[in-house]
Amino acid sequence: MKERRSPSELEALWKEKDLSAGRTVDAMVVIMRTRGCSWAATGGCTMCGYRRASVKEVSADDLGRQIDQALAAYEGEPFVKIYTSGSFLDDDEVPPAVRERIFGEFAACERILVESRPEFVTPERLATLPRTVTLALGLESSDPEVLKRSVNKGFTPEDSRRAGLAAKEAGLTVRTYLLLKPPFLTEGAAIADTVESALFADGFSDEISINPLNIQNGTLAERLWRRGELRTPWLWSLVEVLRTLSDRVGARLMSSPSGGGSQRGAHNCGKCDKAVLAAVERFSLTQDPEDLDVACGCAADWKRYIDAERLLGTPADLERGFDNELAIGKGDSS
Ligand code: SF4
Ligand SMILES: [Zn+2]
Repeated sequence: MKERRSPSELEALWKEKDLSAGRTVDAMVVIMRTRGCSWAATGGCTMCGYRRASVKEVSADDLGRQIDQALAAYEGEPFVKIYTSGSFLDDDEVPPAVRERIFGEFAACERILVESRPEFVTPERLATLPRTVTLALGLESSDPEVLKRSVNKGFTPEDSRRAGLAAKEAGLTVRTYLLLKPPFLTEGAAIADTVESALFADGFSDEISINPLNIQNGTLAERLWRRGELRTPWLWSLVEVLRTLSDRVGARLMSSPSGGGSQRGAHNCGKCDKAVLAAVERFSLTQDPEDLDVACGCAADWKRYIDAERLLGTPADLERGFDNELAIGKGDSS
């Protein structure tokens, strides 16, 4: 069957604000379309829908044309983030010559972010990266059991730590991603897990980015969510994690929740979601916990929810009945 999506076109490109060298700067985000994550090809992580962002055959020429598109849109932003639907340092996904061209084209950038699974973070590959690179690592959780059973990550927290330390040793900066509320964790357990994970990641990270679970198409997380067996995290849980960590880690804390405010993403009662998301965005830039001060009556519901889950011993979505398709349909828009 003919592949519908062109292998020579970028998956997505947009501009946003981020921090570089301690100040807010313009950033260009590029999502390259590649053959995809090697781990996803064998099943992948329970929450990851990236298989849909990859195509079967992508040649070096195709990737070259994608770079041309990125360059055509580039307006001298000091920060460029280049994501693939997998690992930038996987030679099968992004051949070394393509990486070399990217770093040459963006040589004047003050900061370039790329992401990789730890097995591709070798001394040889690190030696080919300019010092302007921030290496992003998807640690998700520092609990080996959570990583194995809830995320199916296919590597251990120690693997991430080794990769992070090696990157630091090579003079790069490290951004670590954590997953708030993987499948099978209650809200309370998820908060504790992310706090612990951030303390672990702090040993090798300059930035810790907290990604609350969002429901992507075709994933195990989506199957559980459709059956009412999980609720995406409350935004209050994210606030709680950031507040708890704000004076306990040296790394900069940040979060930009995908699908925030929808049923598929981290959400509160619906009335306060925008204000809480804005507070999280402010905090991510300032690191000032006072920026997290937002009030809504649903904070009491969130506390009751955590208590009820603890008593019932289940991560099932207590807000809706198991066959309440109406509630699911409301936010079913990814
Ligand atoms: S989350 Fe990352 S490692 Fe896991 S399947 Fe998706 S792209 Fe691969
Ligand atoms: Zn509310």
